[in-house]
Amino acid sequence: MEAVFVSACLRGVPCRFDGRDKASPEIERAVAGRPVVSFCPEVAGGLATPRRPAELVGGDGHAVLDGTARVVEDTGRDVTAEFVDGARRALAAARHGGCTEALLMPRSPSCGRGTVHDGSFTGRLTAGDGVTAALFERNGIAVRPASGA
Ligand code: SF4
Repeated sequence: MEAVFVSACLRGVPCRFDGRDKASPEIERAVAGRPVVSFCPEVAGGLATPRRPAELVGGDGHAVLDGTARVVEDTGRDVTAEFVDGARRALAAARHGGCTEALLMPRSPSCGRGTVHDGSFTGRLTAGDGVTAALFERNGIAVRPASGA
């Protein structure tokens, strides 16, 4: 069975910005019997838990990697460098673990795949990927948003 990378919060680690987890029975069923790398890019990038909510501004995670968008907290603090560093560390962990697939937390500015918050901090969503999801896709790791989260 091939190893799979999973957002740590989906496996019960209380590493979300609000200090909670998003443990999911669906995830446990999906990865049963497989080697799993559980990892939180934002914590790995040096951010504290709990922390202020952050959103992508000016584009999605691909634009952040291209240097044309930023990640900012609701206070206005720029945390782009932490998010990019966390994404790079996540990719290194995924490669080290032999992961070819990732199950990631939906809508997160790091882990979201296909849909993310639009940068207005109003709950509105837009099409796009988080920074880690974008980096994984660029490096051949198939990203799936987790269902049931
Ligand atoms: Fe979960 Fe990913 Fe956010 Fe970490 S960065 S709390 S793993 S969604």
